[in-house]
Amino acid sequence: MSPLRVAIVGFGKIARDQHVPAIATTEGVELVAIASRNASLPGVPHAATLDELLHDGPEIDAVALCTPPQVRHAQAAMALAAGKHVMLEKPPGATVAEITPLVTAARAAQRTLFATWHSRFASAVDPARQLLAGRKVISVKITWKEDVRVWHPGQAWIFEAGGLGVFDPGINALSILTRILPQPLFVTSADLAFPANRDAPIAANLALSDAEGLKITAELDFLQTGPQSWDIDLDTNGGPVTLSMGGARLRAGGAQLVDAADAEYAGLYRRFRELTATGESDVDLAPMQLVADAFLLGRRRTVEPFEDVP
Ligand code: NAP
Repeated sequence: MSPLRVAIVGFGKIARDQHVPAIATTEGVELVAIASRNASLPGVPHAATLDELLHDGPEIDAVALCTPPQVRHAQAAMALAAGKHVMLEKPPGATVAEITPLVTAARAAQRTLFATWHSRFASAVDPARQLLAGRKVISVKITWKEDVRVWHPGQAWIFEAGGLGVFDPGINALSILTRILPQPLFVTSADLAFPANRDAPIAANLALSDAEGLKITAELDFLQTGPQSWDIDLDTNGGPVTLSMGGARLRAGGAQLVDAADAEYAGLYRRFRELTATGESDVDLAPMQLVADAFLLGRRRTVEPFEDVP
């Protein structure tokens, strides 16, 4: 089978840190172009915009949209209309409903729409799902606290409307949660802290539940200095289970069951390759719906202004 010729659109942090190396090490996938207004990669054909790429660039089969969520819908619609498979970085868009017409367009064009949730491809997530399938979960505590100045330096879009603020990393926790617990979950309360000078929250405390009344809490914070936390602690009838390091480590019964290096993006590209072979789509909006519902239900607090340099 000939390799899947991929163009990366938006050449920022995630494109450089993860997409380029993952494409380079995934069999059957090839980086053939980059569309970026400001950046390029030596030896790789470049266009300033997706439109220019589709008209004047090299032949491509697929695009990986690594732009911020606010501009992704228009790019995805354009790429599907041009007959390309589309990989969406997370979150899949700026709203929940904008994704449905993309699913319809992909189906009509017999092309793949892959709404990625990279954290679901972390090494310990599927083992955790299997472990929990045989247990009763009594409570869940998510602690997702990182330093926005370290992980998102100068990314103004993240605090603009539609940028999700602290839910940009927080949605990763929700993507894992909705993978390891198969039952429908819903938000029961949310407290959102908005900096006075920004349009997206910098911290959030959520409560979630399921049909059985499961107690789930999530503490999300973007101002965590010192040790960073990307942890999900579950109390189960078989004892405590902890997923840490964003899903890379799994601990249960006093033993470290999984502790494996990051393989998330290689997994994403293997899955994209698999999907494009048949033109099937993979779109799960459950994590995005929970975030949207937190905004719907959330009590809003205004906190001190956020500046990139304290
Ligand atoms: P970033 O460093 O700000 O890069 C985003 C790129 O998108 C920019 O380099 C820019 O590319 C392009 N862009 C920005 N605004 C645009 C606009 N208005 N129109 C068209 N293009 C625009 O952000 P990032 O960290 O790579 O994040 C991108 C996406 O990946 C986000 O949805 C994020 O949640 C997700 N993600 C990020 C991380 C992470 O650790 N950073 C991890 C996983 C997922 P050009 O200047 O090249 O045009």
